[in-house]
Amino acid sequence: MRKRIGIYPGSFDPLTNGHIDIIKRALTLVDHLVVAIGISAGKTPFLTLEERFALIEADLGPIAKKMGAKLTTAAFSGLVVDAADEHGANVIFRGLRGAVDYEYEESMVGMNRTMNPKVETVFLSASPETSFISSTLVRQIAGMDGDITPFVSKRVARKVLSRVAQNKKKASRA
Ligand code: ADP
Repeated sequence: MRKRIGIYPGSFDPLTNGHIDIIKRALTLVDHLVVAIGISAGKTPFLTLEERFALIEADLGPIAKKMGAKLTTAAFSGLVVDAADEHGANVIFRGLRGAVDYEYEESMVGMNRTMNPKVETVFLSASPETSFISSTLVRQIAGMDGDITPFVSKRVARKVLSRVAQNKKKASRA
């Protein structure tokens, strides 16, 4: 039987409990999920690509294994539909937090389908417990010394806090 391969694109800067919820649910629908980190030239991320790969693999690799599914990470810099093709994926997963996410996704899904009709976009509604979480707010809260542990895994929290401390040290030296 043909293996079902899905791709979940995003920035994951950092991976949050909202992303983890979507990934776990996507893993029940495909045999192999590629978590693909989009890189945009000229934009300096908070965590490096390698740090983000490592956190996704460490937090979700064992879970995927337990579920009998495969999880890999990849980077892409062009169109999501091209990245999907490259990985043999015919499903793009996106998480929807509400109307704002939907408005943006609605036009993208139509354009993606026109560019590559073989790839279907599947939206997973955010779970109520994690629907308010965003990577941007996690970074901002951490920068203001707030507690981010309700929003991310312990491993992610440790990495984020050490990056915030590093950045503050650098800023005070400048
Ligand atoms: P953000 O949009 O917060 O910068 P990403 O680009 O990493 O995050 O998002 C990747 C995908 O995950 C997008 O489809 C986004 O809508 C979804 N997503 C982000 N946060 C959540 C959440 N808390 N619950 C469900 N889906 C989410």
